[in-house]
Amino acid sequence: MDTDYDVAILGSGISGSLLATILARRGARVVMIDAASHPKFAIGESTVGHTSGMLELLGMQFDIPEFQQLSTFMGARKHIASGIGIKRGFAFIHHDKSRPFDLDYSNQLVISPILHGPEAHWYRQDIDAYVAHIAVRYGSDLKQQLRIKDIDLGQDKVTLVSDRDERITCRYLVDAAGPNSPVARQQALRDTPTRCKTHSRSIFTHMIGVKPFDDVLVGSERKPSPVPWFQCTLHHIFDGGWLWVIPFNNHKWSTNPLCSVGLQLDPRRWPVPEGVTPEQEFNAWLKENPIVERQFVGARSVREWVSVPRLQYSSKRTIGHRYCLLGHASGFIDPLFSRGLAGTMMSVHSLSLRLLDALKEDDFDVSRFETFDRLQQGLLNHNDQLVNSAFIAFRDFELWNAFFRVWVIGEAALDFLRLLKAKFEFKETRDERAFHGMDEVPYPGLLCPDEAAYKKLWDESVASIEAVERGEMSAKDATARIVHGLQSAQIVSPALGLTDPSRHHFDGRSVADALSAFAWGKLSAPESIKQRYAGLPAGGMLRMMMNNVVSAALRS
Ligand SMILES: Cc1cc2nc3c(=O)[nH]c(=O)nc-3n(C[C@H](O)[C@H](O)[C@H](O)COP(=O)(O)OP(=O)(O)OC[C@H]3O[C@@H](n4cnc5c(N)ncnc54)[C@H](O)[C@@H]3O)c2cc1C
Repeated sequence: MDTDYDVAILGSGISGSLLATILARRGARVVMIDAASHPKFAIGESTVGHTSGMLELLGMQFDIPEFQQLSTFMGARKHIASGIGIKRGFAFIHHDKSRPFDLDYSNQLVISPILHGPEAHWYRQDIDAYVAHIAVRYGSDLKQQLRIKDIDLGQDKVTLVSDRDERITCRYLVDAAGPNSPVARQQALRDTPTRCKTHSRSIFTHMIGVKPFDDVLVGSERKPSPVPWFQCTLHHIFDGGWLWVIPFNNHKWSTNPLCSVGLQLDPRRWPVPEGVTPEQEFNAWLKENPIVERQFVGARSVREWVSVPRLQYSSKRTIGHRYCLLGHASGFIDPLFSRGLAGTMMSVHSLSLRLLDALKEDDFDVSRFETFDRLQQGLLNHNDQLVNSAFIAFRDFELWNAFFRVWVIGEAALDFLRLLKAKFEFKETRDERAFHGMDEVPYPGLLCPDEAAYKKLWDESVASIEAVERGEMSAKDATARIVHGLQSAQIVSPALGLTDPSRHHFDGRSVADALSAFAWGKLSAPESIKQRYAGLPAGGMLRMMMNNVVSAALRS
C-alpha cells in the first residue's frame, strides 16, 4: 500500500520525538505532527536513574550518540542545554503541624556519582526542542502548528486530515499528544471514571528568586545532610499533599535563573477553591506553612500558573488497529517520585522494537503490540500503588520513612543492575539482542519488574498501607510490618543501611559502600540476587567506578 509515511506521530514532545528519532535512524519514513511549535513550555523536569539509564540504552542500541549525551547531567549541560539544573539527590522533608519543624524528619537519597549520578532537572522547552530537531536531523519530518481534525483508521492504512485540509497517509499512527490525545477521544479509550486510586490535583509554574532551603534555616533548624537540599529535587511532604521545588539555577554553570514549583493536594480534602487564582491559593498555602514560605520571600512567577483539577487519567487499552497511545497520551498518575519520564523511556523502547519489526514484515496485527500495552498498563498501575501509598504514609513520618525504603530499593538498588548488565553485554558483543526482552518480565511496570522477592515486599507493604487507610491497621503496626519485610527480604546489601529505620539519609558517595555492596551481591546474597550481579564483570565495574569518581572530582 502506497502511503506518504510509514509512521505518523501526533505530538513532538519527548516521547514522540524520541520515537521519531529511532524510527528515522532505522530508515523509516516518519512525520511528527504537533498542534503547537517549539520551543514551548512542558512539564516533567526531574530525571531518575531509569530515565537516564534507559536513554543511554536507547542511544547505545540505536547508535544515537545524542541520546547518550542527554542521558548524563554533564553531557546534557555541555552539549545540549546550559539551562538545566543538577539533581544530586532526592530530598523529602516532612512537615507536621502537631510538632515543631525538625529536619530529623527528613530523608535524603544521594544519587550515587560512583555508579551513575548525578541526575538532572531538565528545562523541558530546551530539551524537547533539541530532541525534536534531532529527529529531523535523522530524517523525520516535523509539521508544527498543525491540528488533525479527522482520523480514519482504515484496513490498510491510516488517513489523517488536518484543519488546513491537508491529507496525510501512513501505515501506522502513534498518538503521543499527551493528556488530550485525539485517538483516545475518538476511540473512547479512557476509563471513565479513571481506575486510579490516587487523588491529587496540581498547581505549578516557573519562578524566579526562590531561595535555597539550606539558606533559610537558622540556628538549630540546620542539621547536616549529605548534599545541599537545593541540589536535590526537593519534596516538602505533608498529610494530604506535597510541594516540588526543582531549581535550574543550582550549580555554578547554570545560565537559567528559574526554579520549577508545583503543589499537589488531595482534592477530596482541598477542592479547587472558587474565585481564587492558583497564585492566590499558593500564597495562602505558604502562609499556613511559614518554614516553606521563607524560600519564597521575594520570589515571583515568570509565567501563568497552571491548574489541573485532577492529575490522574487512565486508558482501557493503549493499542488498537494500526494505532497506539504512547507516553503521556496513555495515562498519568502524579509527579511524585518522577516516574513519568522513566516510564516514557521504557515505553519508547518497547514500542520501537515492535514497530520496526511490524514495518519490516508489513504486519500490524494488534497482537504484536500486546507486550507494549501490558508494560504501559503495568507502569500506570504500579505508579498508582506507589503514589497512593505514599500519600497515605505522609500522615505519619515513621510509616513514610519505612515505605520510602521500599521505593529506594526498587528505584536505586535493584533494577539498575539489570540495565547495567545489558549494557556490559552489549559493549562486549555489540549484539543488540542484549537489549531485547526487557519488557518481557513477570511484573511489568514494577520498579524491579523481574524479582519475586521484591514483588512480595511491594505487595505486602502496599497492603499494610492500604489497611491503614481503611482504618484496619494502625500506622505503627503497618510501619513494623514493612520494616520486618525489609529486614527479612535480604534483597539489598546490609552496607547500604536501608533496613535500619533510624537511618534517614543515604549517601551514595562512598566507594567503600559501593564495593562492599558489589562483593555482597557476588558472594553472600540470596541466589536470585546473586544472579543479578553474575553478569557484571568485576574489571568493568571497577573501571566504570573509577571513571565516575574522576568525573565527579572534575565536576566539583
Ligand atoms: C504536573 C506534572 C509534573 C510532572 N513532573 C514530572 C517529573 O518531575 N519527572 C518525570 O519524569 N515526569 C514528570 N511528569 C510526567 C511527564 O510530563 C511526562 O511523562 C512526559 O512529559 C511525557 O511526554 P509526552 O511526550 O508523552 O507528552 P507531552 O510532553 O505532554 O507532549 C505532548 C505533545 O503533543 C502536542 N499535542 C497536544 N495536543 C495535540 C494534538 N491534538 N495534536 C498534535 N499534537 C498535540 C503537544 O504540543 C506536545 O508537544 C509530570 C507530569 C505532570 C502533569
